Amino acid sequence: MATNGNGKKPIVHVLWINAGLSCDGDSVALTAAMQPSVEDIVLGVLPGMPKVVFHWPLIDYQVGDEFMEWFWKASRGELEPFVLVMEGSIPNERIKPEGYWAAFGNDPATGQPIPTSDWLDKLAPHATAIVAAGTCATYGGIHAMEGNPTGAMGVPDYLGWTWKSKAGLPVVCVPGCPIQPDNLAETLAYLLQQLAGNAPMIPLDENLRPRWLFDLTVHEGCDRAGFYEQGQFTKEYGTIECLVKIGCWGPVVKCNVPKRGWMAGIGGCPNVGGICIGCTMPGFPDMFMPFMDEPPGAKISSRTVGVYGSFIRQLRSMTLHTVDKETKWRHRGTTLTTGYHPSW
Ligand code: SF4
Ligand code: SF4
Ligand code: SF4
Repeated sequence: MATNGNGKKPIVHVLWINAGLSCDGDSVALTAAMQPSVEDIVLGVLPGMPKVVFHWPLIDYQVGDEFMEWFWKASRGELEPFVLVMEGSIPNERIKPEGYWAAFGNDPATGQPIPTSDWLDKLAPHATAIVAAGTCATYGGIHAMEGNPTGAMGVPDYLGWTWKSKAGLPVVCVPGCPIQPDNLAETLAYLLQQLAGNAPMIPLDENLRPRWLFDLTVHEGCDRAGFYEQGQFTKEYGTIECLVKIGCWGPVVKCNVPKRGWMAGIGGCPNVGGICIGCTMPGFPDMFMPFMDEPPGAKISSRTVGVYGSFIRQLRSMTLHTVDKETKWRHRGTTLTTGYHPSW
């Protein structure tokens, strides 16, 4: 790994392409990260981190050819090591030869925009790691819905699910529409520590998501899970009960947002009244539509839980009545009634 000139800290370049079919929502979301923050990563305040140089359109002070030169260098194999972050889905110009859907910079020879898919072809063989940021880049997302005219897809679909970087890393997927800020910042920090030799291979699930972030379901971390278990389901917004009957897919969606919140631990879709629409999932959005209808599987499970839950609720209400009282031996008077027996 290269050093910063004093022979001590390795330098890792992060090349960020937000020119997939993207709304830039993941770039914007990352600015809210706190565990760690972008500043923590860039300023190297975390122990063991290599020196990091971001080439990120959202914040870079370099523009035009000066900014693009880093990408050209990387495509010629002259930038080592670098992590490529892709934001937005990858449209497929091979099915639309008369034009392009998304592009990044211009070809100096022709003056024509360079399709984003061409950049991925050029940079993937030289990248030490590739991170797909957001559901569009990971699995295609909204732009890759059935009927779309662009042939859009996520990075693993484009490069192949078994693709490995020259350092042996698969595409690392951090889904979410947008990403939960700390999920992406933490994944970048993990990869940088791995590249510095301080961490083992990043553990990913079968859909290439970091396991420690995406192993549990929304339901398993939801503040309303107690209401679900007691069979208390709301039919309208603005209540505190479980949202499954108004369209929450939380029981079958892998996402830690209810646990982690959105920013500074605050928020987290169902916790604050929004149904989970499955935005971190590979089948999003098609498999979760129509939104706001009770999910098909939930009809059976919520009916079953409804019967069990109402019985449990009655038993709990009796126990609650019993335990929500002071104990009888705490009273004024002259007699000790605690059951104490002197031992001498
Ligand atoms: Fe925007 Fe969502 Fe796509 Fe990210 S995943 S680029 S936030 S539409
Ligand atoms: Fe589960 Fe959704 Fe109900 Fe929360 S609101 S308990 S995630 S079904
Ligand atoms: Fe997306 Fe559901 Fe997670 Fe909210 S809770 S971010 S809708 S997957």
